[in-house]
Amino acid sequence: MQDIDNIAVVGGGVMGSGIGQVFLQNGYTVSVRDIDADILEAAEERIRSGNYGLDRAVEGGYLTEAERADALDRLTLTTDLGEAVEDADLLVEAVTEDLSLKGQVFQAVDAVTEDIPLYSNTSGFSVASIANAVSDPSRVAVAHFFNPAPVMPLVEVVQSEQTDQAVVDLMEELCEAVGKEPVVIDDAPGEYGFVANRCYAAMREEARKVVDEGVATEEQVDTAMEEGYNLPVGPFSLAGLGEEWD
Ligand code: NAD
Repeated sequence: MQDIDNIAVVGGGVMGSGIGQVFLQNGYTVSVRDIDADILEAAEERIRSGNYGLDRAVEGGYLTEAERADALDRLTLTTDLGEAVEDADLLVEAVTEDLSLKGQVFQAVDAVTEDIPLYSNTSGFSVASIANAVSDPSRVAVAHFFNPAPVMPLVEVVQSEQTDQAVVDLMEELCEAVGKEPVVIDDAPGEYGFVANRCYAAMREEARKVVDEGVATEEQVDTAMEEGYNLPVGPFSLAGLGEEWD
């Protein structure tokens, strides 16, 4: 794998801080850029002592106290995009799921970076629609981490026809290096996103129908799916139907 030391994360919300933490825990230097100091403070707090943060990792024996301190030393928080990307070897965008905002962010990133790979953590916009915003779309792919990023192994790496193979390979290798399970897929998001969310949506829709038709209760559907398909939790326990999920 190409040498990667510094990673810029644009957007320090739930996903950006989780993704940043994954890389910090694995020895990388991470700069998180968000729009104001309070949000960045919350991002640091989440990384440090959130439900899936570094303190929990220490408590669980996954990280030593020295490793936690070292990880936090490698974290920079900034509102200055130029500073965030200064030494970055690659960038992960995790701003709010709004295509025009992502377009503006990628335009701004394009203006301050040369040729580093750019990844979006979008839940369902096509790579092509995001890559439009930069002058060289071949450096853009999606890296869809799942929530909570420090815990969930899956990363959907999505490539468009324009994406440079090296950009895809790099994210695949990087995911493996940090203990994630990458699945490389083509750029054809459906209404519910890429692969896992599309399939999960289909299961939820059918589960809802089964209950609405009076065939079974929610508890019975969950038991059927847990015991019949070895799912750790059935569709109703995992998330209330009707709620949005990413
Ligand atoms: P969030 O609301 O927690 O965080 C978004 C962050 O983007 C906020 O902190 C906001 O201040 C910041 N932001 C807005 N404009 C910005 C700009 N111009 N520059 C820098 N930062 C900016 O949202 P989230 O849940 O972390 O989602 C982020 C992305 O990850 C979305 O594309 C979402 O679809 C995707 N995603 C979310 C989940 C999930 O379960 N939450 C899972 C996978 C992927």
